[in-house]
Amino acid sequence: MGNVADNLARLEERICAAAERAGRARSGIKLVAVTKTVSAERVNEAIDAGITAIGENRVQEARDKWPFLKGEVERHLIGRLQRNKAGKAVELFDMVESVDRPALAEALSKRALNAGRKLPILVEVNISGEASKAGVEPSALRGLIEEVADLPGIQVQGLMTIGPMTGEEGIIRGAFRELRRIADELSCETPPGMEMKWISMGMSGDFEIAIEEGANIVRVGSAIFGDRN
Ligand SMILES: *Cc1c(COP(=O)(O)O)cnc(C)c1O
Repeated sequence: MGNVADNLARLEERICAAAERAGRARSGIKLVAVTKTVSAERVNEAIDAGITAIGENRVQEARDKWPFLKGEVERHLIGRLQRNKAGKAVELFDMVESVDRPALAEALSKRALNAGRKLPILVEVNISGEASKAGVEPSALRGLIEEVADLPGIQVQGLMTIGPMTGEEGIIRGAFRELRRIADELSCETPPGMEMKWISMGMSGDFEIAIEEGANIVRVGSAIFGDRN
């Protein structure tokens, strides 16, 4: 599995090199350490080594693990969320990256309002068109944002995608470039209530391509914590 601090140091070098290739500043890229299936002890090692944001896929796992974390970190929900867990998600997370339908946005807004906060969300886009993937189709994205952006309990702050399941760099790059193009379009004609601030794309296998194509959030798990097997 390797030492978390060493893995992080190597990851940092690769993030910086990719940023440099793209003429971008490292400070403009948020690293979210994906901690699904990782023990609280190892997450704490990452926090000790300087990680400031973590991502979990499941509300229940976050709820079980987080009492054992030490230190303040930003907490992102990056996995599929059922509407009946919206309240728990609002309690536990600073941002929900995986909103892909109006009913979920409405449930989150209602729960966030009850909790007296405005929850930042990203809209997950199915760029690759793979049937197994969550996310709204690109053609339905603007409609979805227009439908939810003025809900009082949430703020739409950008887009998230999961890269295509392939080893072919050209296909991955094309998908990330397309999300970037859509984000640029939205940042010029932004639906009222939205702020086009974050492009979340890139995981352990493809974060360098994502950074080169404009990601400002990367979500990296196994390159930090080892394979989940
Ligand atoms: C698991 C996961 C990641 C991290 O994947 P790695 O390949 O381990 O870096 C990123 N984003 C989402 C949505 C995930 O489910």
